[in-house]
Amino acid sequence: SVVVEQLRKDFSGVTVLQNIDLDIKEGEFFALLGPSGCGKTTTMRCIAGFESPTSGTIKIGDRDVAKLAPNERNCGMVFQSYALFPHMNVFDNVAYSLNIKELRKGNLFKKVGVYTRMLNSKLVKYPKEIEKKVMDILEYVELTDHAKKLTSELSGGQQQRVALARALVMEPEVLLMDEPLSNLDLKLRHTMRNTIRRIQQDLKITTIFVTHDQEEAMSMADRIAVMKDGEILQIGTPTDLYSNPKTPFIADFVGTSN
Ligand code: ATP
Repeated sequence: SVVVEQLRKDFSGVTVLQNIDLDIKEGEFFALLGPSGCGKTTTMRCIAGFESPTSGTIKIGDRDVAKLAPNERNCGMVFQSYALFPHMNVFDNVAYSLNIKELRKGNLFKKVGVYTRMLNSKLVKYPKEIEKKVMDILEYVELTDHAKKLTSELSGGQQQRVALARALVMEPEVLLMDEPLSNLDLKLRHTMRNTIRRIQQDLKITTIFVTHDQEEAMSMADRIAVMKDGEILQIGTPTDLYSNPKTPFIADFVGTSN
């Protein structure tokens, strides 16, 4: 679960977020929806630990995350731009994040040598556990046949699936996705909606999904927080928002008034 209470964020004296309260349940697919500049990304960055709140508290599970570094928060991230390593193949891109995690914990890879050699794209022998884990997750995102290709050789949708696999292989407690589909063409966007939703439901992973696309949020999310000008206007299921929009802005934004 992710619980945010009275989150506020100022940038050089300008308040960009205030009164943000969220109570996101275990296994829930939760969307932050709103127009450009309303503060969706900043909210997510505070949860992930890339920004520190001006005030307010954030809890992931039972942990107050104020003093935890991003890598200690156990959040998997997928962004609009895929942020993959183009010189590495699909398998290595996914295994890489796993290696770092295991290296931090001091497990599996005792030698930093393994990590260094992989960075230089040389052949690396992975322990069986890692190999299996990566191949399992690649099968999940339907990339088994592309494991040995460089990510720069893949289509946008395939690259986004690598990014998803890379986030999921860490077994994060929370999956944070920031406009993951907005670089894809319309048809692919629809396919990817289904892929993401299927995986999210299979793994029952608590997910926060940032989007400015109301149709995307309405078709994918269990609940949605509609944001405007740094505040939350309403939180509800797609049906709630559609049938009981609290303000004309929401009615307009979720499409009831059309
Ligand atoms: P978009 O969909 O366009 O990304 P968003 O809803 O995600 O928009 P944010 O990126 O969270 O919105 O930005 C919210 C506000 O905070 C904007 O006015 C933005 O200019 C401002 N902002 C974001 N990051 C910073 C920063 N590092 N320094 C100063 N202002 C910032």
